[in-house]
Amino acid sequence: MANYDVIIIGAGPGGYVCAIRCAQLGLKTAVVEGRDTLGGTCLNVGCIPSKALLHATHSLHEAEHNFARMGLKGKSPSVDWPQMQAYKEEVVAQNTRGIEFLFKKNGIDWLKGWGSIPAPGQVQVGEEVHEARNIVIATGSEPATIPGVEIDEKRVVSSTGALSLAKPPRRMVVIGAGVIGLELGSVYARLGAEVTVVEYLDAIAPGMDRDVQKTLQRILKKQGLQFILGAEVQGVSSTRTKARVTCRLKRDGSETVLDADVVLVATGRRPFTDGLGLDALGVAMSERGRIATDAHWATNIPGIYAIGDAIEGPMLAHKAEDEGMAVAEVLAGKAGHVNYAVIPGVIYTTPEVASVGATEQALKDAGRACKVGKFSYMGNARAKAVFQAEGFVKILADAETDRILGAHVIGPAAGEIIHEICVAMEFGASAEDLALTCHAHPTWSEAVREAALACGDGPIHA
Ligand code: NAD
Repeated sequence: MANYDVIIIGAGPGGYVCAIRCAQLGLKTAVVEGRDTLGGTCLNVGCIPSKALLHATHSLHEAEHNFARMGLKGKSPSVDWPQMQAYKEEVVAQNTRGIEFLFKKNGIDWLKGWGSIPAPGQVQVGEEVHEARNIVIATGSEPATIPGVEIDEKRVVSSTGALSLAKPPRRMVVIGAGVIGLELGSVYARLGAEVTVVEYLDAIAPGMDRDVQKTLQRILKKQGLQFILGAEVQGVSSTRTKARVTCRLKRDGSETVLDADVVLVATGRRPFTDGLGLDALGVAMSERGRIATDAHWATNIPGIYAIGDAIEGPMLAHKAEDEGMAVAEVLAGKAGHVNYAVIPGVIYTTPEVASVGATEQALKDAGRACKVGKFSYMGNARAKAVFQAEGFVKILADAETDRILGAHVIGPAAGEIIHEICVAMEFGASAEDLALTCHAHPTWSEAVREAALACGDGPIHA
């Protein structure tokens, strides 16, 4: 029975990053993980495998739709689904093995099994009880379904099942037009499925800027996805060969029935804290059922901390990573900090969508006067060269001080170029600061500078 400075429960992006930083700061660290591989949902059944399938099917889409006009003639590739799955698994394996290597390199013990906290300062894994000065809960989240819908991971699937279907479906209904629904809906639409996305709200991509929502919906519609908005799914019945989704349109109460080979339930996730023994310990929860923490990720029980999807805030891997690093600093007696105002959000469709800071609507609702600098990729040579000129960069800057308050991008590599705006915001930059920064030509990032110029005297290429 070893004594540790820190035991972290969960080896997802929050937990494993926290462990590495703890070890780097000289703390004797162990991580409890019950899966056979490290990396949590993100690496095993989330961000990483979905990016592999998005990349493969985007390549197929390029071959089918854009190769000929670039002078690349010949038959488009056909889909070898088992091979695509094997490629996805290999990408996952490379990454999970990478974390195992990092654990060894940093002297972090992997306590294999599911952990619980029988008492403050103790973590039980199987029959063994380990002592720790501090415990960090980083147990993440699991798919949340809706009443009347039972997930069997075959015909009615969560994102986990959708990544490993036996074969691509002919007809797919996606419940929920959030990040998961749009990304995995795109994958199967590109593989030839008729994809219908049913969404309760009147817009797709909840929480995103309204202009982005409208543009993304228009583009995805052109790619073959169909949308039924303002519709609440009432239930799903499933037989051996198909599933039937019943939904009610909010505007007139009428019912619509959709048949599908596979139904993807993408209606959000809920914190996964089962079996930890939090009730018995008296760990306080927030109103929304997440673990309540203070500004330093401490729960109400001394020595027990929590980070990531299990606590409040957006359920994003990189938010969990930041909290993991920050809580490690706190445990090592240093100052740990996360700037929640600058956490980017990305949807990995084609084109990508990326957002940071406030939306125009949120600023309006808060009565905060802002300048809106918008630049269309139609004026960007690189975007036209890759057939992705339909999007835009929109920068919101304070009307008086010109400080950047938010940015919303839909366009090629939006998930990459958003970071120059994140850095600018971290440094409290003004739109003019970005506009005065030389941007290489020809790049997609030039659209950021143009949007920044649009907050001032105006862009050049519009
Ligand atoms: P989400 O919260 O992003 O979207 C769920 C959608 O389902 C919402 O638009 C909601 O209105 C809709 N919905 C709920 N009940 C419904 C009903 N009865 N009928 C019709 N629509 C209904 O959730 P998600 O897409 O499942 O993703 C889960 C979490 O994982 C999110 O927090 C997301 O940010 C995260 N995630 C992030 C990424 C990324 O960053 N690229 C990728 C995947 C998942």
